[in-house]
Amino acid sequence: MSVEPLANYESWDLTMSQLPKRSHLYSLKPIGFGTPTVESFTSYLQRLAAAHGVSIASLIRYKITPLFIQTNHPPDFFKADDGIKMLMNAWHREPAMLQQQAAEFWLDRTQHVSKVVAIVEKLTTRLDLSFLTLLQWHSWRLNFNHIFHTEQRWCPGCYQDWREADLPIYHPLLWTIEAVTVCPVHQRYLQLRCLYCGCFQQFLNLDCHSLGYCCACNAWLGRFVDKAKSQGSQFDWENWVAKSVGQIFAAMPTLSLTSCSQDPPLAKYRRNPTLTKFLRWCYQLGISPVEGLEILSIIPNVLS
Ligand SMILES: [Zn+2]
Ligand SMILES: [Zn+2]
Repeated sequence: MSVEPLANYESWDLTMSQLPKRSHLYSLKPIGFGTPTVESFTSYLQRLAAAHGVSIASLIRYKITPLFIQTNHPPDFFKADDGIKMLMNAWHREPAMLQQQAAEFWLDRTQHVSKVVAIVEKLTTRLDLSFLTLLQWHSWRLNFNHIFHTEQRWCPGCYQDWREADLPIYHPLLWTIEAVTVCPVHQRYLQLRCLYCGCFQQFLNLDCHSLGYCCACNAWLGRFVDKAKSQGSQFDWENWVAKSVGQIFAAMPTLSLTSCSQDPPLAKYRRNPTLTKFLRWCYQLGISPVEGLEILSIIPNVLS
């Protein structure tokens, strides 16, 4: 009887591969992190809702609000036997919570913005979402009153370029800042009203499902624009402001780890310069705003 030789097969590696940590929500990557056109947190929330096929109102109501209520109560509050019942009562009692549409409510340096960002970071297991707000500007010696525009503005040229290139439509944080009036890419003034119905757009519109479309008439808000030639010294200044604020956003992830992390106790009692006054000072000295912020952190009253 002949015996067939046994074939040698390769052995299997049976060690379990390490699975990355699971996140409760899709860990959507913010657009433009570390660049002048980093995405705003309100834009991120709207894209996050769209990525799950739900409305922004549902995302806030069912995912963010319960955790927000929890953070507003002492840790022991919900540990009682009827803790879940109390949480549900609070959830039904406070339906208007987190339904605000102003930029100050979502993007400023307040404690509740910090809480909401921490909640969304927990749900998505991301660590970079505070850079989509002004939270990282906390220790800068600037006057933050009226730092945001009252309406969401946009650049029709940017919208159109992104759509043509099949890129996601989003709102850069740059467009929310009051002092920024110009798109540094297209060198055109940002738009404030829909060309078709004349309506303003909100920073976070709970009834609107698609970024780039008018929330009142649903018209596409992008269009082709030519890059403008210089339009005089006022425009050159406004263009410089837009580029400079963009430079701050681009430098933010590294800046927040270095010179801007200390806050002397006297800072809050002093009258700080507005962002526009600070930028004009940089412009006149011919220094970049990042250099200006470093000087301001060392000599707080340099603009007084
Ligand atoms: Zn543009
Ligand atoms: Zn419209």
